Amino acid sequence: MSAIDTLPPLREVIANHGLSARKSLGQNFLLDLNLTAKIARKAGDLENSDVLEIGPGPGGLTRGLLAEGARKVLCIEKDRRCIPALEQIAAAYPGRLDIVEGDALEINPTDRLTAPIRIAANLPYNVGTELLVRWLTPPEWPPFWSSLTLMFQKEVAQRIVASPGSKTYGRLAILAQWRADARIVMDLPPQAFTPPPKVSSAVVHLEALAEPRFPADADILSKVVAAGFNQRRKMLRASLKGVRADIEDVLTATGIAPTTRAEQVSLEEWCALARALKG
Ligand code: SAM
Repeated sequence: MSAIDTLPPLREVIANHGLSARKSLGQNFLLDLNLTAKIARKAGDLENSDVLEIGPGPGGLTRGLLAEGARKVLCIEKDRRCIPALEQIAAAYPGRLDIVEGDALEINPTDRLTAPIRIAANLPYNVGTELLVRWLTPPEWPPFWSSLTLMFQKEVAQRIVASPGSKTYGRLAILAQWRADARIVMDLPPQAFTPPPKVSSAVVHLEALAEPRFPADADILSKVVAAGFNQRRKMLRASLKGVRADIEDVLTATGIAPTTRAEQVSLEEWCALARALKG
């Protein structure tokens, strides 16, 4: 019998530990272990990786990650009620699951993990987006993680993988695609979760690139992209006026028409603009 078979079904765990879902913590649990194993497999080569899991809840995805062979999982969970359920999983996989109780926005556990590090999470939407932006904008590149496998509301997932010209293309797409390969690897209907959320979800997988796709200064790129998309309906000559007085000349010299709107500008062009603004 494998370790996962010695653990009670998740519905039983939830009943035994009184884990009624709390809206304030964005709790929509995955209880189907076939599904959590499938998500775990999307995270890549787990056998040679440490995994950082944020928001394990009762541990459905945690079980998937361990059963699929993760060398070690370090999980951070804010809800104290979930800790005994997670300790039960740790006992079934001796030495492979470390549990940290706390807020993932305030804890940096990287010193307890060995590279390569993969991050996996099914998180509340707002926490997930904030962490994603932090993971994508570290002080130095390459980052401490080699891949991210994250559940999002489908609309957010589409923003991460969006191409120029689409309504969902914006700062998140540029941040994600500049230094990572980003793909939607799974779509999930609301009924996959207990309780079901109002909207569909999707799993996004990002692999960190060793080098940015195009050279650019991260701060300048981030600022110019934010300015452009803050007024996405305006032409760049207007939306970027505050960035530099001679922005029309800089745009023209970069080969971007000043009448272009932010959502039509490719990643390569944003990076060229960032370089021109630095030079
Ligand atoms: N991973 C579990 C699953 O798939 O069934 C639970 C997913 S549930 C959508 C989100 C989990 O994140 C909850 O267990 C919640 O308590 C936890 N959580 C919410 N905010 C958090 C934070 N700031 N830091 C750590 N965990 C958090």
